[in-house]
Formats: sequence, C-alpha cells, structure tokens
Amino acid sequence: VFKNVDSAPPIQVFQLTKLFTDSTDPKKVNLGVGAYRTEEGKPWVLPVVHTAELQMANDLTLNHEYLPVAGLPDFRIAATQLLLGSNHTVIAENKVESFQALGGTGALRLGAAFLKNVMNFNVVYVSDPTWENHKGVFQAAGFSDVRLYRYWDSESRGLNFRGMCEDLSNAPENAVIILHGVAHNPTGIDPTKEQWEAIANICKEKKLFVFLDCAYQGFASGNLDEDGWASRYFADQDLDLFVAQSFSKNFGLYNERTGNLVVISRDPKKLTEVRSQMEIQIRIMWSNPPNHGARIVTTVLKNSAYFEEWKGQILIMADRIKKMRQELLDNLKKLGTPGNWDHITKQIGMFSYTGLTEKQVEYLKSKSIYLLSSGRISMCGLTSKNVEYVAKTIDEAIRA
Ligand code: PMP
Repeated sequence: VFKNVDSAPPIQVFQLTKLFTDSTDPKKVNLGVGAYRTEEGKPWVLPVVHTAELQMANDLTLNHEYLPVAGLPDFRIAATQLLLGSNHTVIAENKVESFQALGGTGALRLGAAFLKNVMNFNVVYVSDPTWENHKGVFQAAGFSDVRLYRYWDSESRGLNFRGMCEDLSNAPENAVIILHGVAHNPTGIDPTKEQWEAIANICKEKKLFVFLDCAYQGFASGNLDEDGWASRYFADQDLDLFVAQSFSKNFGLYNERTGNLVVISRDPKKLTEVRSQMEIQIRIMWSNPPNHGARIVTTVLKNSAYFEEWKGQILIMADRIKKMRQELLDNLKKLGTPGNWDHITKQIGMFSYTGLTEKQVEYLKSKSIYLLSSGRISMCGLTSKNVEYVAKTIDEAIRA
C-alpha cells in the first residue's frame, strides 16, 4: 500500500541537528536549532525546574489521571496572568479564557482549528519571513489561503514597516493576522511601541483577526513584563483575539510540550460557547493535554520564591545571548569583515538574521558550522570558545 509514497522534503532545522551530531569535526558548531545552550554548549535544565520536579516526585497526592480537556486549571490561570500581568483589565472583567496546548505549536494549531471549523475563516497572513512552521500549521487546519505581509527589509536589515502596514491595510475582513508577540523569529526585529500602536489600529479598522504568537517572553529584554508589552497592549484594545503562548524556551521545557492558547473576547458572555467549541477541537486532536510540563510551570509561577529564582535564570539566558551577540560583532569588526554588522547587536531574542546568502551558508556548512539556508543563526549555539572560529569563517565566506 505504501508503494506510491514519495519522500517529503526534510525538515531543515532537524536535518541540521543530524548533520551536526554525525559530524566528527571537533570544530563543529550548531547554529540551527532554537534551543538554549550553556557556555559549554550543553542543554540547560533550569535549576528551578529541577527543584519543582523533585518536589513533584515526592508529592504522593499527585497521580497520572487524565487532565481536564482544557488542561490544568491552575496552569491556565497562572500562565495567562504571566502573559497579561495579573492586574490586566481583561482578567478583572472575565474577558479571558485559556486552553492548555501542546507547546506553542499546539496553541497555534488549536486556534487555527477553531478559526477554521467554528468561525469559517480561511485567509491567514504571516510575516515574510516567518517561523517556518506557521504556514504548515494553518494549512493543516484547513486554511487554503496563506498570504505574506512584508516584514524584513534586506536593504536596511530592519523592519519594512511601511510595506507591512500597506499589506495589512489591504487584507480582507476576518483575515487572521499572525503577529510575533516578542522577539520575531527569524529576524530578531520587533516593531517599536509606536509601530505596534499603528499595527493595532489597522487591525481594528480593517476588522482583522489578530493572532499573536508569543514564544519568547523573557528572551528579548530578560524582563517578563517588558516582553509581554505587545500582548498586553493588544489585550487593551477592545479586540477579540488569540495569543499562543509557549513555555518551551523560557522554562527550557522543549520536550514537555507546554503551551497555552489565550482567548480574549470583548463580550465575556460568549466565552461559555467559545469554551465548549474549543473543547471539541481539543478532544478530536489530542483529547487532553500532558501534565508534567504544565505542573512544573504552575509550581514555579505560584511560589513567589521559585518565581524570583526563575526570573534570575531567564536573565542568565538572555544575558548570555546578548554577550554572544557582542562577541560575534566584536570579532567581525576585528577582522574588518566587509559590510555593516551592527544588526547583530540590534536584533533581539534567540536569533539573528545575518543577511548571509545561501552560497555563504553552504560555505559555513562545509566548515562544519550549521545554520538555516535563510542565514538565520541561533545565538545560543555560540560560546566564547567557538565565536572566533564562527566569525573567521563568516569573514572567509563574505570575501570568497
Ligand atoms: N512560534 C514561534 C515563533 C517559534 O519560534 C516557536 C518555536 N521555535 C514556536 C512557535 C513553537 O514553540 P513550541 O516549541 O512550544 O511548540
């Protein structure tokens, strides 16, 4: 029965990890995957996560019963408060519901399923470029019309704000607009507060459906409130909207699939119906969500000492990334690498969109430095030990 099955194209980011793992070159560097690494290039279990796990392991009142379809109630509340701030008016006015999901991806997929199956929406706009999975997630949910809005300006290596506004202004009513809530992946360029305000006004005027994707709260500035600014601002705008929240990065819970879909409704009374429909969508996709990651997050968020500890550990990650940006830039400057590289330190979050061409990327790969063909690098793959080698190889690629 499988004789007519052809191979699907490889998933680039996982292919890079395999190339990296298989390489025997002692100088190899993986700048592909968006996962935090320590200064020694190792994955990091946040100490506060470890503490919460030990506490959970010793708590004999816990069990492995199914969670409710919508997820762990305390998790949903704590996660939403973290995103919006516990005093946000939409929380006080009961205009928020939330649904535990399988990571940020699951939150996007759940939101997309609802928007397609319940709302009958069919057009979605994603930034050009965007996280490579946005398009597929929405198509899988039945969105047949995936469009791009301009975002990256390769000339200035910054935001093409005018192009973005023009494209959003031309979007049809009820088009779903995916906006990266903080630390845009892959460009590392976010709109300014004034630009966010203009974007929100267009969405309101044109009756567009805003779907924020917030996968990096804490990773841009190191401050959770500051990184929640855009989500909080949109929640203030008297709009119906969704926010997909991920705990993969800021808790380092990549393989625990811990996410939350936050739903804000201008009419709080309609949330009862929304909730019942959302639960149907969950039931047919994963029936009910996994426990472990959500319980870790809840344990940390609800304990003020753990919460403070976690904030310190987020800062460690954000600071190390900033330091690597600076060291990469310093090394390129020292080498006199042709071109302006200031965007490396201007960009924020985990990624830098280097502006390297596909040919230059190939050159780096031939030297065992693995990165996406778009030229995106994960700053987490850099360490003080390998940054000089990476800079030197970029320099060679540019001069080749
Ligand atoms: N959205 C964006 C913009 C991302 O970068 C990622 C993770 N790479 C996700 C969503 C998905 O996050 P998760 O791993 O929690 O599914």
